[in-house]
Amino acid sequence: MNPAPASQSRAAVRTLGAQLRRANRLGLGVALSIFALAVLLGSLVLSALKLENDNQVITRVLADNAAASLAFHDPKTATEVLETMRHSPDVIRAAIYDRDGAVFAEYRSARTASHPLPASAEDARAQLGFDLDCLHLIEPVRHGEELIGYIYLDVDLRPLYAQLLGYAALTLVAALLALAVVSPLLHRLNAVVLRPLGALTVLTERVGREEDYRARAEASEIAELDSLATGFNRMLAQISERDASLAAHRDHLEDEVALRTHELQRAKEAAEAASQAKSDFLATMSHEIRTPMNGVLGMTELLLDSPLSSDQRHFAEAVQASGRHLLGIINDILDFSKIESGHLELESVDFDPGELLEGALAMFAQPAERKGIELVADLPPEVRRCLRGDPFRIRQVVTNLVGNAVKFTERGEIVMRARVLCEADEQVCLRITVQDTGIGIPQAAQHKIFEQFAQLDGSTTRQYGGTGLGLAICRRLVELMGGRIGVDSSPGAGSRFWIEVALRRGTSSLKALSADVALDGLRVLVVDDNPTNREILERQLGAWQMQVDCAASGIEALAKMKAAHAEGRRYDLAVLDMHMPQMDGLQLAKLVSEDAGLAATRLIVLTSSYASASVHERARAGVLRCVHKPIRQAELHEVVCSALRGPASLPAAQEATKAARPSFRRSDRILLAEDNPVNQQVAQAMLAKLGLQAVIVANGEEALQQASRERFELILMDCHMPIMDGYQASAAIRRAEGGTRRVPIIALTANVMEGNRDQCLAAGMDDFLAKPYDLEQLRTTLLRWMRMNDDAPQPPAQADDAGEAGPGEAEQAIDLAFLAQFRELDPDGGMALARRVMQVYVESSRAIATELEVAIEAGDSAATRRAAHNLKSSSGNVGARSLAAVLKELESLGKDGKVEEARAQLARFRQLYDCALAEIDRLQATLA
Ligand code: ADP
Repeated sequence: MNPAPASQSRAAVRTLGAQLRRANRLGLGVALSIFALAVLLGSLVLSALKLENDNQVITRVLADNAAASLAFHDPKTATEVLETMRHSPDVIRAAIYDRDGAVFAEYRSARTASHPLPASAEDARAQLGFDLDCLHLIEPVRHGEELIGYIYLDVDLRPLYAQLLGYAALTLVAALLALAVVSPLLHRLNAVVLRPLGALTVLTERVGREEDYRARAEASEIAELDSLATGFNRMLAQISERDASLAAHRDHLEDEVALRTHELQRAKEAAEAASQAKSDFLATMSHEIRTPMNGVLGMTELLLDSPLSSDQRHFAEAVQASGRHLLGIINDILDFSKIESGHLELESVDFDPGELLEGALAMFAQPAERKGIELVADLPPEVRRCLRGDPFRIRQVVTNLVGNAVKFTERGEIVMRARVLCEADEQVCLRITVQDTGIGIPQAAQHKIFEQFAQLDGSTTRQYGGTGLGLAICRRLVELMGGRIGVDSSPGAGSRFWIEVALRRGTSSLKALSADVALDGLRVLVVDDNPTNREILERQLGAWQMQVDCAASGIEALAKMKAAHAEGRRYDLAVLDMHMPQMDGLQLAKLVSEDAGLAATRLIVLTSSYASASVHERARAGVLRCVHKPIRQAELHEVVCSALRGPASLPAAQEATKAARPSFRRSDRILLAEDNPVNQQVAQAMLAKLGLQAVIVANGEEALQQASRERFELILMDCHMPIMDGYQASAAIRRAEGGTRRVPIIALTANVMEGNRDQCLAAGMDDFLAKPYDLEQLRTTLLRWMRMNDDAPQPPAQADDAGEAGPGEAEQAIDLAFLAQFRELDPDGGMALARRVMQVYVESSRAIATELEVAIEAGDSAATRRAAHNLKSSSGNVGARSLAAVLKELESLGKDGKVEEARAQLARFRQLYDCALAEIDRLQATLA
């Protein structure tokens, strides 16, 4: 039951003093009343008895006196006898009846003269005893033993009542007197109890009010109150003690916090240092292991190409097989560490999956033949096409699956199939399966085998060897490509492993891809500080009749390339080692690409390191392919051909153009008006990367104020902002300029549909940059306007529709390649900026996502459009392309008022948003 509210219970509360007084009064009143009643009743009864006794005596005397007059029938004497009653005032009537019961003589006092007497002795006997007014008495009159008549008396009771009234008055006076005497006495007694209790109450209130826990209650003479006071004092003492220890603890707390923070900081630094040391160690190990392995395998390959006796060939082949096996294990371990630490990046080059799969299968021709297993390739013409992706990693996955199939199959066949599952404008979804007739895998273990170091059981390891890393790496690689991997199998019935990946369409023609490049006579420069590597490469490339020159350093290479250029004999290809002292492969590639005379030479980088440059960095340096050492002759052939195939090196050409561009002046200041914190971070980082200073404001009104206060080289204006949007702000800025100097205003908008561009121009903006934009797009746009500062505005060039989601990444929650650009923007070259941007996104997007959901559910099309627009641009900026695409759709549905259709998209939005958050969470953990 709920307790009554305090105000209610307070109304019923009385003080203990009042309660005691009330109890006293009640007790005393009841006691006195009972006493008075007892006294009055007693006296009434006693008086009545006495009256009856006295008058009975009188009656008997009268009977004796009347006997003679009755016996002699003398009524006169009888009347005289009765007349004596005049001396007894209480007797108001009297009568003598004869033996027959008739009235013989009668008497009436003066007060009752008219009052009738009972008519006969019989009637008189019927009235005998007390009634309200009178006491009726009757006595027989005898003569000797003979009954000769009766005497009858009425005694008046009023004197008795008068006496009783007197007693009552007296009792009342006595009771009042008793009350008057007892009340002060009781009051004094009450006070004895109430005083200590009151003191305790006052003390409790004071302690509660002043929180002074040093106060103590005084001892009391009443045992119960005394123990109450003692308990109260003990409680106060405990509180004081606790307070004191709390205060002491609080004093130490800050010191402790500072100490712990310091310790934590140290632990964190130590952990970071350990992690860095691990990465460094792995990088070194990778380099140190791969370099000699390169020598061993490369030389063995060359050895096997030379004339050998059969014994020598056998030995050399054994060395090669062991070397490859060892390299496989090393690669697995290094790959795994690389994936784990988030260092693995995928390449994006054109390739023919049909050819790749055929080649991968062909590698197992010999081992399969040795075991008597048939290898079958079911590759329909639809998979012979040009797609864009990382062929090296796809081959690695397929090779692993086929390798396992060969390993775990004793007889029967291994079939590799490839199918196109779906096709869109930009992307093709491939499913590749590798089916064997081997030992199979129990259902329960089918998930486990994709986890690292997981094998079926100890006996498998003993019988077949292996590290249990292969499938774990495959899974990570496929997931990194945005795909899926799985297996259908049962013990004894073989296994069917499958992967599904969505790849973009390539730009090269299939013919160009597969066209054999005539290598003979082409000039190639090998740049490596390691003489063994130089020798191996020289021989491998020379085997295809290429003209090979070698350089031991970047400086020497540059000199040779420049000399060749001067002689008009430029190199067609340069194979660069990534890790060289003084100038590494990437720096050399950059210099080559930036030199207009050398930029036409196509560049391949060979790396032995675990943490080489990012894909983006390599592309920017004009590197076409980057492969890990040791590289087999067949692989080298494929890489060399792919680099030489097709049109001139695109990145290199781009870089050459970029190098010719002027850089921005450091003092140039840009005003960035953008309300979305994620977009602010990104734009600021990009501007910093371009060497520009950014002043950030969060709405149009602030932009207007800032623009009037300070001179900016250019304004980047988000179109949709609270308080005042970009259109209004730009119009106001133009009005304020009043036709004088015109600061270029570039609209930033994720709204690439409708007549948005016209709206921007109408508002006085000069150009248009679609969100999300990359560094290159920003640079191009800025250069266009900052160099033309004093000229009249030029019509803007076609803006890239960067808001479109790349369909190739449609199913990938976060586009890693997009995020990779943050590494470049980061002043420290790490992923800290990417993490920061993602964090801001996570924090700021939830409220907008909720707003969007509420708007869609409520059917509010304007709010849907607004929220979807808002979330679209920040989602694009963390690389959540699929999410951005759905938001774009929702925005347009909101605009068209198609609330029902928007509602139908809600589930997909939720799913993509959750996926994006989950992926960000995962990435945050991996990048940390
Ligand atoms: P390992 O290097 O040990 O082969 P993997 O990750 O490639 O590591 O494979 C893990 C385990 O999965 C293997 O040890 C084996 O038990 C099982 N496995 C993989 N492929 C097959 C297959 N085709 N048939 C049967 N079992 C397989």
